[in-house]
Amino acid sequence: MTMISDNLQAIRGRIARACAACARDPAGVRLLAVSKTFGPDALAQAVQAGQHAFGENYIQEALDKMGELARRPLPALQWHCIGPIQSNKSALVARHFDWAQTLDRPRIAQRLSEQRPAELPPLCVCVQVNVDGGATKSGVAADEAVEFALAVARLPRLQLRGVMSIPDALPDFDAQRQVHERARAVFDAIAARLPAGHTGFDTLSLGMTADLEAAIAAGSTLVRVGSGIFGARHYPAGQASAQTEPAHADAPG
Ligand SMILES: *Cc1c(COP(=O)(O)O)cnc(C)c1O
Repeated sequence: MTMISDNLQAIRGRIARACAACARDPAGVRLLAVSKTFGPDALAQAVQAGQHAFGENYIQEALDKMGELARRPLPALQWHCIGPIQSNKSALVARHFDWAQTLDRPRIAQRLSEQRPAELPPLCVCVQVNVDGGATKSGVAADEAVEFALAVARLPRLQLRGVMSIPDALPDFDAQRQVHERARAVFDAIAARLPAGHTGFDTLSLGMTADLEAAIAAGSTLVRVGSGIFGARHYPAGQASAQTEPAHADAPG
């Protein structure tokens, strides 16, 4: 057993216990392994331990890993873009990822739909919601999320799957849960307004290494765990840095 397979087992245990604590079926919570800054060997170890869905924040870094892993005898993997999407990178996201979780601008949503290759299924997307304020933070405001989500749902080459959010770190379970409940309220409000024929709106992407229990209590169906699986991240000087990810995501986990 490698450290990564031990860690994965520990995280799966935390998910199972969190589900038991709130009487949820653990099959209703998927695990996304957040692999930013880790190389292909680390990901391959996770794949060998049964993990197939990976979240990446930086597009070029992700493409390098996808290419490297595709050359190895591994099962098909699912790739989620969980970092900000600049318009000059949207075509790469549309072409190479299965999911984009960080939609918060109509223009980027439009481009992703136009750029999704015809031979691929629609790109699965989540609307990113800013549930704890901060005008400079990514994500749409809660009171604008329903209109934005309805517009995304109309784009032909996107499939609106749900809502994601990245609240700032909070010290205790109750505070974490409360802020995650706001994202769930947005999810419920969107679900109530989607046209009857809309399928697959089933994903509430909430919770990271430090707060996955509170996220599951609030209804998360997809937890995004990085350091809890791969260990602490180290950024080479001059490369994409902690500035472009949640302020708390580098706490040792
Ligand atoms: C880095 C990151 C994570 C994982 O954070 P950990 O604290 O390492 O589990 C989850 N979601 C997003 C959007 C991230 O950028």
